[in-house]
Amino acid sequence: MYPSQRLTHLTSAIFTTMNQMKKIVEQKGIEVIDLGIGSPDLPPAPHVRQALQEAVAREDYYGYPTSEGLIAFRQSVANWINYRFGVRVNPENEVLALMGSQDGLAHLTMAWIDPGDVVLVPDPGYPIYAASVHLAGGEVFPMPLKAENQFLPELENIPDEIKRRAKLMILNYPNNPVAATADLDFFSKVVSFAKEHQIIVAHDLAYSEMAFDGYNPPSFLQAVGAKDVGVEFNSLSKSFNMAGCRIGYVIGNQEIIKPLAIVKSNIDYGVFTAVQQAAIAALDGDREGVNPNHLSKVYEHRRNVFIEGLNRVGWFIPKPKATMFVWAPIPSGWDSFSFASTLLKEAGVVVIPGNAFGQMGEGYVRIALVRDENILKEVVRRIDKCGIFSRK
Ligand SMILES: *Cc1c(COP(=O)(O)O)cnc(C)c1O
Repeated sequence: MYPSQRLTHLTSAIFTTMNQMKKIVEQKGIEVIDLGIGSPDLPPAPHVRQALQEAVAREDYYGYPTSEGLIAFRQSVANWINYRFGVRVNPENEVLALMGSQDGLAHLTMAWIDPGDVVLVPDPGYPIYAASVHLAGGEVFPMPLKAENQFLPELENIPDEIKRRAKLMILNYPNNPVAATADLDFFSKVVSFAKEHQIIVAHDLAYSEMAFDGYNPPSFLQAVGAKDVGVEFNSLSKSFNMAGCRIGYVIGNQEIIKPLAIVKSNIDYGVFTAVQQAAIAALDGDREGVNPNHLSKVYEHRRNVFIEGLNRVGWFIPKPKATMFVWAPIPSGWDSFSFASTLLKEAGVVVIPGNAFGQMGEGYVRIALVRDENILKEVVRRIDKCGIFSRK
């Protein structure tokens, strides 16, 4: 007996190998600092935890919720989106609750993709994008993200045959893993491209609230005509430190959302009502002057401490404008994996080899700034001490 063929596409082998190596290093008594996984290390704001606590104590919140989410939650999403981006969505049919945006991204392909359909996926990219296409039996066409193009895909280089067969394009700015950003001009080009070739656009805006130096990432739906062609995923995981709560949402074109809602209504019964109430408290409480979101300040400071520290010891990395990631070019003479495994064995620091996110990630490692300032300084010291930059 063998498991299904589609599993052969899903082996995230590098992550597993890095984890095994981490255990071996720890068995030698070395305290490993893990900057691998992108899970926020900070708690949600006190008023959010308070709301969750009160909701959990209610007797009437333990029935099955509904897959599409409470109307009160969807209304809070619509209000917050309008407050943040000036974008209007109808909570009745243009907002769908998700058990984390991962849930929506994983199931969107099942709602829209048949065998033979092509999906345009960024390379490097967040792993679920390609995985979801394989799960649905579709075909991945990787769009290379290169430093010389500011990590934006070159739409004009997509072959005609692929444009004909493509049904869906997935984008993500601010980007994981490359930490690049996109402006409204680029999104407008995407809208024209999608209209011309009849392609659905799914934009992942998970890092809208982690941006630095006064930069404010746009929503894809701010581009004129975007709602005609696309949807946008967002999540409370990064923006409100609620990753473990599993709550997110998709907004935008109702004809694109509807089939996703049908898939989900057959699979899940929605997000725990108490978690939805906590999410409402997070979204409603996030207004200027009432409860300013300090998240960007925290990560901006970490970014500065870390990158300036690495510069001093000989590792020159551009400062990202957004996300909690540093996309670090590795010195010549190394490949991503050998560099990351040497750093783990000799400095006790976990980073992710760039090629874990696609072929185009070779030559980089991704470092997540998910530890406090002092630990990041310790990482700099360890990298300096192990002498990895004075070799090869
Ligand atoms: C963390 C992350 C998400 C969030 O996933 P959830 O399922 O909402 O926790 C989505 N997209 C990207 C690119 C991420 O890095």
